[in-house]
Amino acid sequence: MPYKTVIPMGIGDYKPCAVPQCGEGVAGRHLMCKKHWAMVPADQQRAVVMAWSAMQGNHGLEELSIRVRSHQIAAERALNTVLALLEAEQAQTAMRDQAAARETGGLDGDDLDSFLEEPEDELAEETLEP
Ligand SMILES: [Zn+2]
Repeated sequence: MPYKTVIPMGIGDYKPCAVPQCGEGVAGRHLMCKKHWAMVPADQQRAVVMAWSAMQGNHGLEELSIRVRSHQIAAERALNTVLALLEAEQAQTAMRDQAAARETGGLDGDDLDSFLEEPEDELAEETLEP
């Protein structure tokens, strides 16, 4: 699921976490809340931080737009990693719920044995009779 929305970058002192379903407020220079940032692999965190530092200071407009763009790319990569992890977590939870539903609603051991044995016995008796 590619993330299309432009990530807000340091506008104001406070903004929402970049993860859309989070809703946590973060300082303007941060991309996401502590919890979600912790899900970003270290190399991607470094890339975002370095791209962010590269944007600071005085640059020509052309140079700045290149640096802003590369920060955006790094930020989107980090965000997509978190979204993929969250999606995998959700899928796992759904699978666990389904497994739990099967255990409580399914046949227990004895039911399963009789279910498997009965048709076999009937078949044997029928073939023995003339
Ligand atoms: Zn968050």
